[in-house]
Amino acid sequence: MLSGKTALVTGSTSGIGHGIALALAKQGCGIILNGFGDAEGPKSEVAALGVKVGYHSADMSKPAEIEAMMSYASTDFGGVDILVNNAGIQHVAPVESFPVEKWDAVIAINLSAAFHTTRLAIPGMRAKNWGRIINIASAHGLVGSAQKVAYVAAKHGLVGMTKVVALETATTGITVNAICPGWVLTPLVQKQIDDRAANEKIAVEQATRELLSEKEPSLQFTTTEQLGELAVFMCSPAADNIRGVAWAADGGWTAQ
Ligand code: NAD
Repeated sequence: MLSGKTALVTGSTSGIGHGIALALAKQGCGIILNGFGDAEGPKSEVAALGVKVGYHSADMSKPAEIEAMMSYASTDFGGVDILVNNAGIQHVAPVESFPVEKWDAVIAINLSAAFHTTRLAIPGMRAKNWGRIINIASAHGLVGSAQKVAYVAAKHGLVGMTKVVALETATTGITVNAICPGWVLTPLVQKQIDDRAANEKIAVEQATRELLSEKEPSLQFTTTEQLGELAVFMCSPAADNIRGVAWAADGGWTAQ
């Protein structure tokens, strides 16, 4: 379904971004990976699906590196047809002791990076009159949780940006939407479970049950495979007129 297209998935060496990259590759889409840590493993997994794969190591907190990544996408892949703004970090602390440098990093990576990739990707999408921008927000783009001031502010900002760019492209073949997952068992969440187990001196299994039952009525994690298939749907013709939505995949979290 997506052969001849190129997707740039930020933060795709791990977790949700990795799952979305694989799902798009299964549809024949060329993939540009990005993120820290081992890139060779994810690159081989994508290549095994028979599509062109590239990697750029841009630190998403640095606009100049984002610009270099977008230039690489233009020269080596002929531009970005599908942009998945996924890279993100978390930091948990009360507002009065929230480290200023953590605030700056969360806003830069979880919000400003998507502004930079979007502003640089849109001209090429307009030229082709086709494009998909999928912003990986969160249930925290729709509701708050204590101790997550920077993350919740960034994700609400990302949902707002999604609406604005969807409106600016509404008469074109470019669609812009957000996906708002609840809990997904990735390294980002495993750290929160491990911290809870250590702080409360409880087993990891109990900490996992507590984490889910606090927020997620289904008591189940959303999987990276499910989010990958949702991204594929958003790239399909059936989604041509879905614009500016913040699509919850959260086991009922934000229905409460
Ligand atoms: P993860 O930690 O498994 O993956 C994060 C990815 O981002 C990694 O590839 C990492 O290398 C990359 N990254 C981090 N900082 C970066 C930087 N400065 N520059 C480039 N890449 C960077 O986390 P995840 O759970 O897969 O999270 C992915 C996205 O999904 C995030 O935006 C997160 O906020 C969002 N999200 C996660 C959950 C969840 O429950 N896991 C829920 C809702 C939303």
